[in-house]
Amino acid sequence: MAHIIDLPKTSTFTKYIKPDKRVPTIESALENKDNITNTPRNLVAGGFTWVLPTPRQEYDFLIANPKAIEDFGLTQDEINDPVFKKIVSGEFYEDQKQFQKHGFPMPYAQAYAGWQFGQFAGQLGDGRVVNLFEVPKPKPDGENRDVYELQLKGAGKTPFSRFADGKAVLRSSIREYIISEHLNAIGIPSTRALALTYLPSTLAQRHGAERCAIVARFSESWVRLGSFDLYRWRGDREGVRDLSDYVINELFTINGVKFQNFERIIGIKKHFFTKSSISIDDLTDYDKMYFETIIRNAETTAMCQAYGFLNGVLNTDNTSILGLTIDFGPFSIMDKYDPNYTPNSEDHTARYGYRNVPTAIWWNLTRLGEDLAELIGAGNELLGNPDFKAEVKEEWEDSIIKRATKIIEIGGEIYQYAYTKKYVETLFNRLGLSHDLIDPQNPDLQVDTVISPMLDILYKIQTDFNLFFVQLQDIDLTSGEYAAIAEKEFLKNYEFSTFRHHKDDLIKDIAAWLIDYQELREKSKTLSSRPDPSKFNPKFLPRNWILDQVIDQTTESRGDETSYLEKLQKMSSNPFDETKWGDEEKELEKSWLQQGNKGDEFAMLQCGCSS
Ligand code: AMP
Ligand code: MG
Repeated sequence: MAHIIDLPKTSTFTKYIKPDKRVPTIESALENKDNITNTPRNLVAGGFTWVLPTPRQEYDFLIANPKAIEDFGLTQDEINDPVFKKIVSGEFYEDQKQFQKHGFPMPYAQAYAGWQFGQFAGQLGDGRVVNLFEVPKPKPDGENRDVYELQLKGAGKTPFSRFADGKAVLRSSIREYIISEHLNAIGIPSTRALALTYLPSTLAQRHGAERCAIVARFSESWVRLGSFDLYRWRGDREGVRDLSDYVINELFTINGVKFQNFERIIGIKKHFFTKSSISIDDLTDYDKMYFETIIRNAETTAMCQAYGFLNGVLNTDNTSILGLTIDFGPFSIMDKYDPNYTPNSEDHTARYGYRNVPTAIWWNLTRLGEDLAELIGAGNELLGNPDFKAEVKEEWEDSIIKRATKIIEIGGEIYQYAYTKKYVETLFNRLGLSHDLIDPQNPDLQVDTVISPMLDILYKIQTDFNLFFVQLQDIDLTSGEYAAIAEKEFLKNYEFSTFRHHKDDLIKDIAAWLIDYQELREKSKTLSSRPDPSKFNPKFLPRNWILDQVIDQTTESRGDETSYLEKLQKMSSNPFDETKWGDEEKELEKSWLQQGNKGDEFAMLQCGCSS
């Protein structure tokens, strides 16, 4: 465990990827003639611009996350260290000599593009984010890249700010800070949040004038599907290839082993290729890279669905190449099961509503397939042909299109399989059912028999989606009194006068499901690998109305009072373990735990995109 200033720092993205042509060297960026690094414009070429965080008048360190501090390799007392505070706020970079003297790499902003709500939006990029450096993980897990890349969100304008101000308001910064660590705590792959700094003198126009903040966040990578969209849009074949090589060598090679997730899935189920004109042995690294991204995104999406987590803006620029949940704006954890729910009040067609999320992510991955079309269409022979690097000859076009189409088609089957398998596994964890009950060749069988009927009931009784699992894990079903249990446990708050369903019908449905469930529970006891559901069912969730209370206290006190924020951090980053929630604010804790019974004005809230 070390101090942040002492950690070895690298910047591999800027080594692989070509810089903005207008700011070709670090010296030119530091000189920043005509404010070029902070002025919006379209880059003609290159994948990033060197840029420093914009100096702010005042910095007020608010909080850092203990688990994130540990995972980043830092000592816990770092939280009291003025140098740490200056680095995670960007203040450290105000003195250029200082960061250079300490051997810190030059910060930069990444370029990307994106498909937003079905339309191509052109160049986007880090419009308010500055990437600082990478550090080695203290405990590499052998499955993911062994470095973390730290960046500051809300750090000022870059060439990618378009019409906006480069700022992030405190409200949305608190939301992102809390949800990233909560998702990580419940096991959903996510970008992480290290620290939060308030900027008392920096204002932004959102819901009126709002005060701003900086989130220091880290991830194994910040490359998005939209990063590939950019190069294809420019027609920059070399750019697509450079970025692909970066992803393959730096992100998808762990301890010398390439494409671990692809190899794992293909090891279970080979049929994707047996009935296809392309054989496994003919796959290129670019094909496998595409499949690896597909599997990672499929699995994360499956977990999000199993927990009811919704990121209301799943555009390609907010879809991580590593399949991490990323860029949290109008997100929510669904309170009650409703397939049409979206947390985004501006998403009028519910494009990113619960029911549509798996298809939306696949749609994004299809765009990636198009970005990569030449590379996944080429196959080994063309890739080995030196002429292919320079140009695509007309006589090659048909076969490239055919092969790319096939790879995308197979990708679709892999997506569906990886998604379903992870979805059933995650829900089986939540139900305390053994994975041995899942047929690895046909995981969808258990969707039909157990999961769909369960969701049907949840939709009808409109009980709290998460607390249903918590409740179920503690219920003794051995008495066999299923109808009585159904009524007592699941219908006690049900107002029959206001709903369409008859009490007797509901009891019958629930009891029938409980019988099937109990049978699987009993079977699970005889099998190995039975999950403990209490390790998968959070006792607490950072719901929107709770976040609102915390945001109110923090903003109204101008960052002076952080007791709610501290409390929320403890609860949401240790959601399974109430012994870690602290002795403070016990009344508040109690009111936050009433989550499921708060009434409809607290449930299924939405928010807009302004952040
Ligand atoms: P988002 O919808 O937050 O994922 O952002 C979409 C694009 O808009 C990204 O390129 C962001 O960097 C950019 N963006 C969003 N808000 C701002 C802001 N306040 N200043 C500059 N760029 C922004
Ligand atoms: Mg974004």
